[in-house]
Amino acid sequence: MAQKLQAPRGTQDVLPDQSVPRLALERLARSVLEGAGYRRIETPTFEATELFARGVGTSTDIVQKEMYTLEDRGGRSITLRPEGTAPVARAYLEHGMHKLPQPVKLWYLSSFYRNERPQQGRYKQFWQIGAEAIGSAEPAVDAELIVLLHTILTEFEVADLHLRLGSLGTPETRAVYREKLVAYLRANEDRLSEEVRSRIDLNPLRAFDSDHPGTREVMAGAPLLMDELDAGDQEHFDEVRALLDIAGVSYDLDPTLVRGLDYYARTVFEFTSGALGAQSAVGGGGRYDGLMEQLGGPATPGSGWAAGIERIVLSAGHRPEPGPVLDLYVALDAGDAQGDDARAVRVTAFQLAARAREAGLNSQLELAGRSLKGQLKQAARAGARYVAVVRPGEIGLKDMESGEQRPVAGGVDAVIHDVLRGRGPVVL
Ligand code: ATP
Ligand code: MG
Repeated sequence: MAQKLQAPRGTQDVLPDQSVPRLALERLARSVLEGAGYRRIETPTFEATELFARGVGTSTDIVQKEMYTLEDRGGRSITLRPEGTAPVARAYLEHGMHKLPQPVKLWYLSSFYRNERPQQGRYKQFWQIGAEAIGSAEPAVDAELIVLLHTILTEFEVADLHLRLGSLGTPETRAVYREKLVAYLRANEDRLSEEVRSRIDLNPLRAFDSDHPGTREVMAGAPLLMDELDAGDQEHFDEVRALLDIAGVSYDLDPTLVRGLDYYARTVFEFTSGALGAQSAVGGGGRYDGLMEQLGGPATPGSGWAAGIERIVLSAGHRPEPGPVLDLYVALDAGDAQGDDARAVRVTAFQLAARAREAGLNSQLELAGRSLKGQLKQAARAGARYVAVVRPGEIGLKDMESGEQRPVAGGVDAVIHDVLRGRGPVVL
């Protein structure tokens, strides 16, 4: 026998039971975000590699080691999207969305691809819900985005939820600070981990993320960007904080919060769940005022977040939900009928199930050739309200609540009529 194939390591099938909480999350996110004026956008699964090199940043983990990049037939380099902000920003520029009322508020739910070491909560293909507000530098945009994600996560009952908040200042502030930090790291080089040491010039901020003991000791005394903010950045940050206080969203200030993307400016934040273990980040984001210029567009401020669907579901536990009501199960009982007579039973059953759906009923047709007893059992398992039994020249209807059975004169339409009536008054 040929060997059985499995899904690639780090990818997952979403089986029907697993899709239940994911659908609930999608519905919740949609109602929260669309209620606040965010509209859905979908971008392609792959993009020109250059979009991520420029729009995520060549010093990031994502671009350095996590991208799935391949060559197209024409020799063009394409990359499976590892994140959603750069593609949405590209779409904003490509479709001239600056002509729309600003900020343009967009949300997405898509799959993303990163070549990472798979573990609990970390996959090579995963899904994110994301929101982006492009075209406004207002602190209220940042605060509102954070509140919206907070609403989604708390309403979904993510356990032990924490928000960390920081500000990275503007690129100018960061450049000055960077010099200071590099000098500090150089002065303490001998105590740093190999990896941090090799990336001092490339991305010194990542040193705050290290869990190497020596590095951590050094970083405890490192200069902090949040102490170096200029007046404008400080004022912006204070306003974001004041608005979060007004919204009743609590947070911990984290001067070492380093988001994975190069283009963040000012506000950065991350939500974590204590229920997740090592991969504790459920979602995060921030302001990216420099991104549009990186992509060849005019200076345009923007802010947004992305949250991982698998981690949200893991951290919220499973919540069972009733499936859709099944109004009618169509069973067949051809008896001794053969040939055309047996076929007539199958055709009538098929028609009945289809016509019932046209009439707005949920209906399922017997497809497995079970015995009548087996079909009634299956109908009960599926939670059917009524079962129609199609026989040669006759249709019987069984009310699964009362157990009452009777023949219905008048064929398919009469059965549908009876089921509709039995379902109670129709609310228009
Ligand atoms: P981490 O620190 O866990 O690597 P990240 O900073 O790379 O996260 P982002 O790029 O900010 O994550 O993506 C936003 C969210 O997407 C994360 O908070 C997480 O919930 C989810 N996420 C990121 N990478 C993965 C992955 N490989 N598998 C599953 N979910 C992921
Ligand atoms: Mg990561």
